[in-house]
Amino acid sequence: MSDLHDLIIVGSGPAGLTAAIYAARASLNPLVLEGEPSSTGDQPGGQLMLTTDVENYPGFPDGIMGPELMMNFRQQAERFGAKMETVKASKVDLSQRPFKVWVGDPEVPQPTYLARALIVSTGAKSIMLGLPNENRLIGHGVSTCATCDGFFFRDQEIAVVGGGDSAIEEATFLTKFASRVTIIHRRNELRASKIMQERAFANPKITFLWDSEVREIKGEDRLEGLVVENNKTNERSELAVSGLFVAIGHRPNTDLFVGQLEMKDNGYLVTDAPSSRTSVEGVFACGDVQDDVYRQAITAAGSGCTASIDAERWLEANEHGNS
Ligand code: NAP
Repeated sequence: MSDLHDLIIVGSGPAGLTAAIYAARASLNPLVLEGEPSSTGDQPGGQLMLTTDVENYPGFPDGIMGPELMMNFRQQAERFGAKMETVKASKVDLSQRPFKVWVGDPEVPQPTYLARALIVSTGAKSIMLGLPNENRLIGHGVSTCATCDGFFFRDQEIAVVGGGDSAIEEATFLTKFASRVTIIHRRNELRASKIMQERAFANPKITFLWDSEVREIKGEDRLEGLVVENNKTNERSELAVSGLFVAIGHRPNTDLFVGQLEMKDNGYLVTDAPSSRTSVEGVFACGDVQDDVYRQAITAAGSGCTASIDAERWLEANEHGNS
């Protein structure tokens, strides 16, 4: 027999664990499938597990390390009775209620769990360059979030990779801190909107390396520099920078829900804002899996609270304790 739960939360970043805190305090006994580490950068605890100092999360005037913050979230959820399983959902069937959730072999007929309501908080991943040293130096010079880490690069020389709106926005933001920002782009024209391009071209602190790709990320304990190759001439050069911001896009973790939950063209889940309702009644979404705009820990946490309250009210009105 599959285990029946009032509420299963899939994902354990700030959104999922905030939903768990609220749901546990509302006596919904939530089960959190917190994920498991993988070679593609998945982490129980989400993207903050890959960061070092977090200085913009309110309530910590001296800052806090990302992993410690997530451990605090987890302990707070457990304190009120949320149950954590360090497993990854491998398949879901949302076509009827209770919803079916598999862990492990997705081909076995019997689901591992049944859920009266489901909260999806599986997050998103920054697309990375895939170079050696890149993951190891995240938080030590390599970053995917200018809003989070720009402050640490005061008066330093840094590079941004990418030519879309994110790269140009991050580079422009980073000029508040850095002495020089070099945008490394693989083509000779930007994908970013005209107005953002013009702003960047007019910024004296920004320089461009066109038709260029990062080939090597150098540094032992901290980023020390990059080897950049011009893809037209194959000429290689060294760029001495202490910061590298990778801004080549994000990918929401929505593979599990393809064909079951409505998504935008870019794969992010659609919610009926300001609520967290998805296209399937009884399924709610929060955090980066449905946010392609703000992508901050605090906004994810806020949306986790919303999802928990939505799920609680929906269970109360529809399902709670039936069967
Ligand atoms: P994006 O538009 O997909 O741009 C990604 C950029 O990274 C492109 O310039 C691409 O190069 C480059 N790139 C992709 N893979 C690469 C690789 N392996 N190596 C080197 N470069 C690589 O992504 P985004 O900038 O994150 O934007 C996503 C969406 O959010 C867009 O719709 C954007 O308009 C929107 N957005 C809007 C704002 C705003 O309006 N304020 C801010 C941020 C994002 P190519 O150009 O050669 O493909």
